[in-house]
Amino acid sequence: MSAPTPIRQFLLLFFLSGVSRLEPKSMENTFPEATARYKEQMHSRNKRDDTYKIEDDEKVWDLFTTENFTWIDSVFTNRDPSYYNYTGYNSFEPIRNELYRLADKYEYVTVEVYGKTHEGRELLALHINKEDKDEIVFLNSLIHAREWVVGCVTMNIIHRILEYDTEDAKLLLNNFHFIIIPVVNPDGYEYTHFKNRMWRKNREPTLEPGCYGVDVNRNFLYGFKPFVVGSGDSENGPCSETYHGTKPLMTKESIGLNLMLFKNRHNMRYYIDYHTFGNYWTNAYGAHGWAPKNEKQLGRYRENVEKSFMDSLGVKWKTGGVFNVIYECHGILVDHVHYYITPIAFTVEVGNSHDEFTAPDNRIDTFVISQWLALVSQLKLLHSDIKSGQYMQDRIKNWRRTSMEKRTVLFKREEKRQSYIQSLYKRTLKLIDNNAG
Ligand SMILES: [Zn+2]
Repeated sequence: MSAPTPIRQFLLLFFLSGVSRLEPKSMENTFPEATARYKEQMHSRNKRDDTYKIEDDEKVWDLFTTENFTWIDSVFTNRDPSYYNYTGYNSFEPIRNELYRLADKYEYVTVEVYGKTHEGRELLALHINKEDKDEIVFLNSLIHAREWVVGCVTMNIIHRILEYDTEDAKLLLNNFHFIIIPVVNPDGYEYTHFKNRMWRKNREPTLEPGCYGVDVNRNFLYGFKPFVVGSGDSENGPCSETYHGTKPLMTKESIGLNLMLFKNRHNMRYYIDYHTFGNYWTNAYGAHGWAPKNEKQLGRYRENVEKSFMDSLGVKWKTGGVFNVIYECHGILVDHVHYYITPIAFTVEVGNSHDEFTAPDNRIDTFVISQWLALVSQLKLLHSDIKSGQYMQDRIKNWRRTSMEKRTVLFKREEKRQSYIQSLYKRTLKLIDNNAG
């Protein structure tokens, strides 16, 4: 390859620091074409079929970067806090400053600080409520640090609502109160920009020295499955990527977000948690395969969104329950929100399995526009359901008027049950310690 310029050298090193942690199979998944070409080269050079070794990862990466320097150059992310780049990737500081800038600019936009992370960063929610509406639409992204493109999606939704003077933007602005949290997990997100591009969890210390982070999207109350201390369950232990934590709502991020959700639950009408990747539009449940009570209502919203993606991308999106469409997972946000907060709740997986977590930035626009169109068509449906009384009818049928209070009681009961489980763990641990002593 040609001699790398200092900037390219830096970018290469930065990316290798994250990518070298991948297993060889991941490299094949992430860069299938480059891997295939590398194998071809290897074969013609040696006139034999060498097996692919882990050391070859770096060579595939070299090949990929040589062939795609424009990609490498253009994926350079903005870390300058003085401006936000709406067509590229940005680290946390530019996002934070952009939210404050918008709150300064528009009198109906406010920033709410709903907590602080382990490393002291602000947990920020942006409110947009031009017409003093009660109907809340709640959107959040980047609970998983490495899923960069969904931060672009939520930031661009904000941008389009506020700064695009279109009929769609006006409809949204005039009829809803938006609460948008672009970065649920700022510590993890910063870590992906400066240390390891593939980091997923938050960055708090765990009970295992040297292992950091809880998967915040496994730490919510509904269907929570604790890691059992002393069980030797290393697959779910503190060093694993999907560490649930020892108890629900134990991270600064999940506590803060849960408070935001609870505070606004009476008026919440619609909810999305954005993730990468898979082209899936899913709803509760992930913890089991049962259909939600309002399955019929959710079905109408899923049909609406399937049509939107077919129109905008010509792609059929997979829709349905997380358990059935993706996999079984416990303590996830969408289960929690659906069960305790509001019936129409989705978790959306943006992007394809070729890009995985590292979509090139010339693809950001495609994601942003198709997600914007999908959200607009969802909220048009919601708006007409609210106006016609259909929304209230569905709510009474599936989610009785009193159920909000009942759900709070259920929440308290589950919290109590979980703390009882905690006390059992502690007693068992003590017994183990005493026996060992
Ligand atoms: Zn995710």
